[in-house]
Amino acid sequence: MTPAERDQLRLQQLAAQLEPALRVAFLRFLNSLRPDQLPGLIARLESGDVAAVVDLIFGTAAVTAATAALRSTFAEAMLRLVRTRSRDLSASLRLTVEAPVFSPTLIQAVRRWEDDAFRRVLEDTRNGLRETIAAELTRGIGPRQVAVALKSDVSLAGLTAYDAKIVQSFREALEEGRVKDALGRALRDKRFDRALSGKALKPEQIEKMVAAYRRKLVAFRAETFARTAAIQAANEASSESWRAAVAQGAIPASEVKRYWIVAQDERLCKICEPIPRMNPDGVALDGTFLTPVGPRMTAPVHPNCRCTTWVRRERAGVIRAPQPGTTRLILPRSA
Ligand SMILES: [Zn+2]
Repeated sequence: MTPAERDQLRLQQLAAQLEPALRVAFLRFLNSLRPDQLPGLIARLESGDVAAVVDLIFGTAAVTAATAALRSTFAEAMLRLVRTRSRDLSASLRLTVEAPVFSPTLIQAVRRWEDDAFRRVLEDTRNGLRETIAAELTRGIGPRQVAVALKSDVSLAGLTAYDAKIVQSFREALEEGRVKDALGRALRDKRFDRALSGKALKPEQIEKMVAAYRRKLVAFRAETFARTAAIQAANEASSESWRAAVAQGAIPASEVKRYWIVAQDERLCKICEPIPRMNPDGVALDGTFLTPVGPRMTAPVHPNCRCTTWVRRERAGVIRAPQPGTTRLILPRSA
């Protein structure tokens, strides 16, 4: 294992420890998207103004609080890892790097997540809710029933627009008796598979199966959120500990280089795979990596990306080892 791979494993393990808290905070956020006042909701549903319904659901104090809590879960996770990574760095550099408790760059790192990944998650949730409500209304079950469903079933508000569409097509497959389609869904609740082999499904059965499928999609989405946010926190924390070392005068910034290390299980990922080659000389501590999806400060570049950034000291005048993930020296076999 190369030093870069060892460091990646360490970062991925540290990230894995952050996942449960992030997942719980995300589910709490979804849980907060339950309307508290039914009459107002029903009135808006009756008018068919889906955007107003979504605004009402997002406009509660509970949602604001849960969103803030989710933000601080990320920030706290990062801060905890900055301490761990500063200890790691102290050991490897044989000097003491104090973890910053509050620094402008730390705030910037949190904001990078808020402005990009987190903002997208909030947007996806809004769009998903819009899609779900529109689909529920066109099913002809009536505004009151839609309102009650939104209040009682948390998973209704937890889908992205894409998820909402595949839930919809799953429902259609069940209604039309397309068994093969239904059985082809990896995230279906397999406990219902036996019912699929029998005769036409009863409407209550379809309801149950759709709800179970939706819950699975929401759980999967929460996993993805936690996994992606955790690896970002870990990568940012890692760079932040180096920034602290520079700020404390332990190393000059000019000697710090960051490299993109593609995750072992992502070697074939079209987005991640070319990144080391696009940045063959690494980037400065505060530089950005060129990626197929635009410049990025650090991994992840897509949901579930497990890539890491490896930071190392490169003293001027010292011959460097080949950059990780870019060059591999293949020596001809002697005959
Ligand atoms: Zn990746």
